[in-house]
Amino acid sequence: MSGLISRLRQLRHSDHAIAASVRETLVGSLYASPQSLVIGALTSSGVMTIVALVSGNRSMILCAVAIAFVAGVRVFDAIGIWPRSKRKGVLAGMQTDRQEMLYRFGALCYSGLLGVFGLLTLVNTHDAVLQLLAVTTTIGYAAGIAGRNAGRPWIALSQLCFASLPLAVGLIVSFDPLKVALAVVIVLFVVAMMDITLQTYGVILKATTVSREKAALAEYHAAVARRDDLTGVANRTAFREQFEARLRALSGADRWLTIHWIDLDRFKEINDSFGHLAGNALLAGVAHRLNDAFGSTGIVARLGGDEFAVVCEVENRTAATTIGRTIIELVEQAVHHDGRLLHVGASLGIAIAPVDGTDADTLLKNADLALYRAKDSGRGQMCFYEPLMDEKIERSRDLASEMQGALERGEFHLMFQPIFDLAGRRVLSCETLLRWTNRRHGPISPAEFIPIAEDNGLIVPIGSWVIREACRTASTWPVEVKIAVNLSPIQLRSANLPMVIMSALASSNLAAERLELEVTESVLLDDIEASLAALDAINRLHVRTTLDDFGTGYSSLSYLTKFPFQTLKIDRSFIADLEQSPASVAIVQTVIDLAAKLGMRTVAEGIETQAQLDQLRRTRCDAVQGFLLARPMPASMVATMLAGEDIKAQGRS
Ligand code: C2E
Ligand code: CA
Ligand code: CA
Repeated sequence: MSGLISRLRQLRHSDHAIAASVRETLVGSLYASPQSLVIGALTSSGVMTIVALVSGNRSMILCAVAIAFVAGVRVFDAIGIWPRSKRKGVLAGMQTDRQEMLYRFGALCYSGLLGVFGLLTLVNTHDAVLQLLAVTTTIGYAAGIAGRNAGRPWIALSQLCFASLPLAVGLIVSFDPLKVALAVVIVLFVVAMMDITLQTYGVILKATTVSREKAALAEYHAAVARRDDLTGVANRTAFREQFEARLRALSGADRWLTIHWIDLDRFKEINDSFGHLAGNALLAGVAHRLNDAFGSTGIVARLGGDEFAVVCEVENRTAATTIGRTIIELVEQAVHHDGRLLHVGASLGIAIAPVDGTDADTLLKNADLALYRAKDSGRGQMCFYEPLMDEKIERSRDLASEMQGALERGEFHLMFQPIFDLAGRRVLSCETLLRWTNRRHGPISPAEFIPIAEDNGLIVPIGSWVIREACRTASTWPVEVKIAVNLSPIQLRSANLPMVIMSALASSNLAAERLELEVTESVLLDDIEASLAALDAINRLHVRTTLDDFGTGYSSLSYLTKFPFQTLKIDRSFIADLEQSPASVAIVQTVIDLAAKLGMRTVAEGIETQAQLDQLRRTRCDAVQGFLLARPMPASMVATMLAGEDIKAQGRS
């Protein structure tokens, strides 16, 4: 008995120490099975009503009415709460304490009324059957309720006492020895039931606590798996889930959702120059700022590498543009790391739901296409998705991926276009022109694939192959015929270009003086110092350089004095104008004269008509090239042509 009392005391203190979530579950268990509550309430109130009516006793009838009323209220409460609590697992969102108090109040009223009814039956009637009905129903109810509500032991224990003890009092006041003995049995029953209830409670509490802890752990792991380790914002998985949820919420509503897909400009440079720690600090800094600005109303996520996404609700395109500008400004702010200030920029692709798509896949694809376009138009740009983007960009991407391995598959070959002396009789050199015939796309123009190769860096290995092949082919030609090869700016600045040239010359046994490298003028302006150094390095190998497409770029004539070119190639746009425009004639003449003064040879390219050639003959241009004289041709045809020339020359001599 003393053990029971000390456990009751302990219970009073320990209840406050239970975690709120566990308490919530335990209170929820009071409502977990409304069927048992309904059955208990209907049967006990039904029996009591019958007993009261049969006895005809006024106070018992009043008490039975009260029992029926309280039973009704409790049934209503249990059925009203249950579907909600079942739906949400526990009494989530509800005031647990308030709900428990309400339940307790109802339960105690009901048990107390049953106890009082039993007492009244024992005192007011002498009908043994009525007394038996009232006593067994009340005791049965008390026993049942102690088990049912063991999760909240104070309620169970109070119900047990409120229902049973008035019966014991009723039996004792009858002063019948047998009934007093029954009262003693009831008291012992109450004590035993209390003990059982407390033990049951212990087991329930332990099980609930363990399962709650497991659930909390699982929740924690799930949250960690959805966060990007480095930056703390949502990762790709979480982003997708949240984005899809937002899109579902949007359906049918008159609102827009934008996705801004962000790619950091120059991030690789930071990583390469200052190390990965600096790169990480920068990513974390950018994520932090974006999250501060858009995290509370929208979604901020890192999609991998240096790519982020921001999703926001907007009313119109202007708002999306404003968000885009804010993002660019936030990204451009410096990040402090290790005493340094790190700077990057951002390119943005924007797609809007539901205008540019209603599902996540389409919107992500379209934002990505817009980003591709934004990056293409330079750094720090943002671009909205437009339906026509798809085809062109998709093809570029497809070509980019087809280009991987194209060299190994032997899909590239070279054509050669002869360059003649002004008289148009003797081949001075041949320009190497790269051709790509892809297994899926067929022949592709270099104007289309060279920029792609420059973007993905494949121009370096492909360009090296061109140099080697060109040298090998030219080594079979007469020694006075030179070979010209086009160089991309990326190749020009690649550190191993001199090595590539030397090894191509050595392996083909071609004299360095027979190789000419053509570079377009726009290349030079990007980085004058680096371009100068690269051209000097080439000239030191005794390889000649040609300034290609002269007149199309922005270079002023003064650049000609700066760069060490041996040849100047006048762009075909001037040649095309020669017949109609006297100004073009003057320009071409001026360029040729100036080049001659600077010690440079001149080549006019793109000659298509006899009239153009005649005009050029009046100038002191050194060489001519164009479809009129010869189209690009395979190496075998060049060999035949050169052999024919040789025979003609021998005939002349
Ligand atoms: P480019 O260096 O200006 O090459 C001359 C282009 O003009 C060639 O086009 C040639 O076929 C074309 N052409 C020659 N004569 C005439 C003519 O009388 N009329 C007209 N309308 N066109 C003429 P292609 O082969 O399509 O090459 C285009 C561009 O692709 C080249 O322009 C060059 O910038 C680039 N390219 C070609 N091969 C290579 C290469 O191996 N490496 C690099 N980096 N670029 C290359
Ligand atoms: Ca060229
Ligand atoms: Ca050209």
